[in-house]
Amino acid sequence: MKFTPAKPPFTGETLETLTVRLQARGEPAFRAKQILDWVYKKRARSWDAMTNLPKALRAWLDETFEFAPLTLVHGKQSLDVTDKLLLELGDQSLIETVIIRAPQEGVGLEHSRKTICISTQVGCAMGCKFCASGLLGLKRDLNAGEIVAQLLQVCYREDEHDPRAHSGLATFDNIVVMGMGEPLANYDAIIRALTIINAEWGLGFGARRITLSTSGLVPRILQLADEPLGIRLAISLHGATDEVREQIMPVNKAYPLAKLLPAVKAFSEKHGRMVTLEFILIEDINDSREQAEKLRDIALDLHAHVNLIPYNTVEGLPWKRPGIARQEAFADVLRRARVSVTLRREKGHDIEAACGQLRLKTEKARELSAT
Ligand code: SAH
Ligand code: SF4
Repeated sequence: MKFTPAKPPFTGETLETLTVRLQARGEPAFRAKQILDWVYKKRARSWDAMTNLPKALRAWLDETFEFAPLTLVHGKQSLDVTDKLLLELGDQSLIETVIIRAPQEGVGLEHSRKTICISTQVGCAMGCKFCASGLLGLKRDLNAGEIVAQLLQVCYREDEHDPRAHSGLATFDNIVVMGMGEPLANYDAIIRALTIINAEWGLGFGARRITLSTSGLVPRILQLADEPLGIRLAISLHGATDEVREQIMPVNKAYPLAKLLPAVKAFSEKHGRMVTLEFILIEDINDSREQAEKLRDIALDLHAHVNLIPYNTVEGLPWKRPGIARQEAFADVLRRARVSVTLRREKGHDIEAACGQLRLKTEKARELSAT
């Protein structure tokens, strides 16, 4: 289903598109930057807050654009290591944006480094067997404005205790495109959104601190390699052979490892940066020694970093994470070959635990209360 909002969201405009619209109105050339500055640097929360704009222009902006294409429906007041923001879109669809804090010794949580996990679709069509986001299928793509607006919501929340806000900077350290949805299945919107996020006239956020995760849409990976953006790439591998991967990720039928791995290599050679291979550890599915050895060989060949993620149980799904000893044994196979590897230790606080699951719960609760 496609959602066409009554008014396009302002956060989907680029300097170019906005300039064209304003010029057509006979506005002076500096206006576009001035308005973008209000939104992204000064964090104005309404058109009326833009006090140095003529009243008639503010009225036109209000008629022409949706100022905020999403609203916060749920977000705790207190700060936690993982803060999930449940956001509602214009058609009442729900998405999640997650703030993940890395606690540091000696400083309060409000000063910790923050990674923001953003969503790109409502639901997901890829149908990975283990994933909460895929359970309800794809409802629709997000537009660029809805993707960008998630980060402004985070700024609104974080600005008060982050001194970076005074200089008009984004009040977080990293962005991971790892929330609900397959970002490369919504290619134009994610590229446009990342352009706005990265641009000096937009959020001004460094591309090298943005990581996009994909389940492996090969043609789009190759296309992304040619974009001038310079963002980092993570691949949801989760199986080191076609046999195992196919069992849990239907995308492997169209793009088996023989197609995926060369594409990843091409991307990494073009960018000169390590790609990350994500590998969820699921008991008795992909946690064997043979899988570890195959993964080791793939990582060495691609010169990739490996991120091992103990599976987070999803309500209604049978999968489990292996015990700690088995996780460590798996990681050791990689470590011994000097593969750069991380094994997450936190329980339920990881990015993946957060993404998709809060929405699933809320959708279920809504369904229940409707019947
Ligand atoms: N669609 C993209 C990005 C969103 S998913 C992708 O698949 O890469 C982000 C990551 O969370 C992916 O690596 C995904 O496989 C993983 N993931 C999904 N469900 C999970 C779960 N229950 N436990 C741990 N990781 C999960
Ligand atoms: Fe979609 Fe990623 Fe979940 Fe697979 S893991 S269903 S691609 S969100």
